[in-house]
Amino acid sequence: MRRTALTAPLDLNEVVIVKRGRFAPTPSGYMHIGNARTALLSWLQIRSADGQFVLRIEDIDKPRSKPHYARQAIEDLRWLGIDWDEGPDVGGQYAPYIQSEREFFYEAALRKLNDQGVLYPCYCSRAELQAIASAPHGLSAEGPAYPGLCRHLTEEQRSVREAVKQPSLRFAMPDVAITFVDEAAGEQSFPPGAGGDFVVKRADGIISYQLAVVVDDHAMGITDVLRGWDLIDSTPRQLLLYKALGMKPPRFAHVPLLLGPDGTRLAKRHGAVSLASIRERGIAPELVIGAMAAWSGLHDRAEPISAAELIPRFHMNLVPRNPVVVDEAALRMLGADVAP
Ligand code: GLU
Repeated sequence: MRRTALTAPLDLNEVVIVKRGRFAPTPSGYMHIGNARTALLSWLQIRSADGQFVLRIEDIDKPRSKPHYARQAIEDLRWLGIDWDEGPDVGGQYAPYIQSEREFFYEAALRKLNDQGVLYPCYCSRAELQAIASAPHGLSAEGPAYPGLCRHLTEEQRSVREAVKQPSLRFAMPDVAITFVDEAAGEQSFPPGAGGDFVVKRADGIISYQLAVVVDDHAMGITDVLRGWDLIDSTPRQLLLYKALGMKPPRFAHVPLLLGPDGTRLAKRHGAVSLASIRERGIAPELVIGAMAAWSGLHDRAEPISAAELIPRFHMNLVPRNPVVVDEAALRMLGADVAP
């Protein structure tokens, strides 16, 4: 009798790795439709692939973060019909999902980076850095780049400065160009040292976003990071941190920002942008989802639709590659007080 090969050799290319994505808001204000639309796209990317979605609260900058904004963000997301498999309110195997409770992990990563000699203490004050930034040619496209003043101090110079000032810790950018393929925006290339040596721990002891996000995305098994275009400059830095920590980076997708009718980044001044104010006006979540889907190439017109109904429609190729202008009619529909 012929036997069929029930135990064919395992083809590693066919092993399906479950996609894991996350939404990681900083609770420093009310969530607005710009952040909510990033959450929606990230959730759709994962749900359309039968993956697992994580909510993580990025309150590492404690003075800027407020617990009530985190609670409000959780309520707003649920109201929109966005759910998660792991998060601060539901737990999960990679808990805690709140950065202020994860310092232990960041300190361990800092020690690892320090052992490799890729960090150095920086004694520059904010005022000194500001003066450099406002000098002619002091600004790069990524904002003021640190000019490396403290990078080559001798031990003696360091101890003199240490006596009067607590340093921050900076990551020394290697002299290599960084390229990566962005799932939404295509191939990206950054020149060596883009943005300058960046802070991983501030002088006041606060761990930087760059380090915390890398440590957490890796520790939580995130395979796909989808976030706003405003964070694309952070990606080369984060790729370098992954490399220095010996960790495999996730795939990245940076989606274009929403602009107001005047062409500037959608903000409070355009009205009707916070989820809290939209909810207060009694507007249905399906209307908000419909508008966000229309701005994201997933829906023809801004007609009401639920988040779940969008799952089968999601495809990264549909998401526009350029910033999307939200017109006054759309803002009025969300309850803004914009003259017709
Ligand atoms: N916490 C960041 C923010 O709210 C997002 C971080 C990320 O998605 O990498 O802007």
